[in-house]
Amino acid sequence: MNYDEIMVRYGELSTKGKNRKSFIDRLGSNVRNVLHDYSEVKVHPDHDRMHLTLNGADASGVMERLSHVFGIENYSPSVKVPLDQTAVDEQAIAMMAEQYEPGMTFKIDTRRSNHQFALSTYEMNDHLGGVLLNAFAGLQVKMKQPDITIRVEVRNNGIFLSSQTFEGAMGMPVGTAGKGMMMLSGGIDSPVAAYLAMKRGVQVEMVHFFSPPYTSQQALDKAMELTTKLTAYTGKIRFIQVPFTKIQEEVKDKVPEGYLMTVQRRMMLRLAVALAIQRHGLAIFNGESLGQVASQTMESMLAINDVTTMPILRPLVSMDKNEIIDIAKQIDTFDLSVLPFEDCCTIFAPPSPKTKPNLERTREFEKRIDVEGLMAEALAGVKMTDIKSGETFLNQQADVFAELL
Ligand code: ATP
Ligand code: MG
Repeated sequence: MNYDEIMVRYGELSTKGKNRKSFIDRLGSNVRNVLHDYSEVKVHPDHDRMHLTLNGADASGVMERLSHVFGIENYSPSVKVPLDQTAVDEQAIAMMAEQYEPGMTFKIDTRRSNHQFALSTYEMNDHLGGVLLNAFAGLQVKMKQPDITIRVEVRNNGIFLSSQTFEGAMGMPVGTAGKGMMMLSGGIDSPVAAYLAMKRGVQVEMVHFFSPPYTSQQALDKAMELTTKLTAYTGKIRFIQVPFTKIQEEVKDKVPEGYLMTVQRRMMLRLAVALAIQRHGLAIFNGESLGQVASQTMESMLAINDVTTMPILRPLVSMDKNEIIDIAKQIDTFDLSVLPFEDCCTIFAPPSPKTKPNLERTREFEKRIDVEGLMAEALAGVKMTDIKSGETFLNQQADVFAELL
C-alpha cells in the first residue's frame, strides 16, 4: 500500500496540562531530528495528534525511525483520498483486502473535523460497514477488540484511512525533563542507564573518562560508537571526553590500595559535576546497580556521593544483571559493550578494593592529592564532539571485531 501520511498519537504527555505545548514542540523537533535525512517528510505537531506528510517517502523506513522516539504512544500509516464517498469506499475495500482472512471481525472508527462533509461520523461508520460486509463474505462486525479497525478521519483537506496501529516507544520526549550528565564507560550497564534516562525525557550528555596510554584508542572509539547507537532515540548527542591519566597515576601513587577506587570515583564525580554546572545540567546519571561490584555498595555510594549535593540518579539501581543485558540486547548496545577494550577503571582497579570504605578515612587519604589542581588540568583537556546518527568510530577494523564477537 502507498501511504501518504503517518498519524502519531501522543503518550503520557497528554496528561501534562500547561506543559503540553512545550512537550509537543519538543516531540516535533525530536521527530524532525531522527528524520533529518528524509527532507521530503513534513512534520506537523498539532494539539492532539502529530501528522507526518510523507511526500513520497517510504513509510516503513520512516516508521522504523519513529519507533525509537520517546513520547509516542502509537502511530498509524494512512492513505489520503479526496472528499468523495466513492473514493473512501474503494480505499476501505483495498485496505481490508490486504489483511482479510475469512471469519475475521472488524469495525469502522470515524472522526470528523470537517463538518461540511455529507455524512456524520455515525453515518460513515454505518455506510462503510455495509460496503465492507457486502464486499467480503464471512466478515463480521465486532465493537470490542475486533481483528481489524479501519480508522477514517474526515478533514478539510481530504479523508484519511488507516487500518494498522503500531506501538510507540512510550516515555517522555527527550529534553522535556532537562539535561543530565551521563557517566558513560564502555561497559554493558551505562548505555542501558542512558537509554532509560532518555526514556523519561532527559537530554543526556555523555561524560567519558579515558586514560591513554593505559587505555587504547579503541576503548575511546567504543564509547563513541555506543553513543552513536543511542542517537536512535534523540538525534545527536554531545560526547565529552575527559583525560583521566594524570589523576589515576597520582591516586595510585599516593592513596592506599584499598581506597584507590573510592578516591578515583570521587574525582570522576567531581569532574562530572563541574561539567554539569558549566553546561546547565541538573543531575548526574550512572550505570550502578546495587551490590553488583565493590564500588556499588551503599557504603561506597556514601563515600563517593560525599563530594557533591547534585542528585546522582541510577536508573539501574534495582535491576539484576540479566535484566540489564536483556535491555542492552534490545537497544543493540550489547555486542559493542562486550568488545574487550579495557576502560580506565579496569586497568587501575586494585585486586581487592574495599567494599565498605570508611568516609572519614576516604577524606583523609584524599588530602594527599591536589584535588583542585588535578581537576583544573583535566577540565582544561576536555574535548567535546556532537555525535550524529550513522557516524561510526570502530568500523575500520571490522574484520578484527567480527572475529572477536
Ligand atoms: P558499566 O557496565 O556501565 O561499565 P560496571 O558494571 O563496569 O558499569 P563500574 O566499573 O563500577 O561498573 O562503573 C560504575 C559506573 O561508573 C558506570 O556504569 C559508569 O556510569 C561510571 N563509569 C565507570 N567508568 C567510567 C568511565 N571510564 N567514564 C565514565 N563513566 C564511567
Ligand atoms: Mg565498566
